[in-house]
Amino acid sequence: MERRLFLQQTGVAAGAAMVAPSLMSAKQKQNKLVILHTNDTHSNIDPFPVNHPKFPNMGGVSRRASLIQSIRDQEEHVLLLDAGDIFQGTPYFNKFKGVLEMKTMAAMKYDIVTLGNHDFDIGMEAYKSALSHASFQVVNANYELASTPLSEVVKPYTIIKKAGLKIGIFGLGVNLQGLVPVENWKGLTYLDPVSAAQKQADTLRKEGCDVVICLSHLGYEYNTDQVSDKVLAASTAGIDVIIGGHTHTFLEDLQEFKNKEGKSVFVNQVGYGGLKLGRIDIERCMDSGKFTIASTNRLLDDYIA
Ligand SMILES: [Zn+2]
Repeated sequence: MERRLFLQQTGVAAGAAMVAPSLMSAKQKQNKLVILHTNDTHSNIDPFPVNHPKFPNMGGVSRRASLIQSIRDQEEHVLLLDAGDIFQGTPYFNKFKGVLEMKTMAAMKYDIVTLGNHDFDIGMEAYKSALSHASFQVVNANYELASTPLSEVVKPYTIIKKAGLKIGIFGLGVNLQGLVPVENWKGLTYLDPVSAAQKQADTLRKEGCDVVICLSHLGYEYNTDQVSDKVLAASTAGIDVIIGGHTHTFLEDLQEFKNKEGKSVFVNQVGYGGLKLGRIDIERCMDSGKFTIASTNRLLDDYIA
């Protein structure tokens, strides 16, 4: 099922030039961005066991790679993202210290990831060492990392040009206090995610980004006053899409919220374990300059070769 919604914050859209009808189909294709994403894959390399009560024989890195490749064969402009907690959950992690996860993600050509709490489970030096096997960018804007081993490998945000669009992507992490042994994140200072997010969104809008994406490991929602993706969406302006993680929430589809200016923010999350691949298509109509957004989250079952 595909639902088409409108992106409203994209300031540049209104100024999009009209093009001759003969050029339109080519241009339209050029303006279609396909975002594929995972979260909380938790070292699941193999599919879940065949006797698993909820997800028998589902997931697995080879199916994920195969699905991603089949989408790349059909779509020109693909961006592959992960919202954190790549580490911890199977014996592969204990044996290979995260190197296998990083190598498989490098093979699938992930572009950008953020840090989850479990990515600190063997300490920052070990994360950095495993990361040396991959070439993707790690983003986080609310961990002050200057006096840690991650100072040079993690950036607050990155800007990618794809599909004729300028895409700004920043990351947010959960408070590690109480989740990760203190010695594993020594030197890291936790910053308020809402103000960090607003600062990044303002910067990326000033840079002229057409689309602003937040890779969040804050969690989808809470009964407490802890900042979640829903809170983040409502308390900021300038973010178009939040790709979340941490709460292992299986969203059927993109969820639409209003930001503090009353504009739409879309949130997606695909559970855990690499069981699903999230997909968000963003297209700019050259006629109206309007952006549309649609999602199709796909379960990795044995229909995938
Ligand atoms: Zn987490």
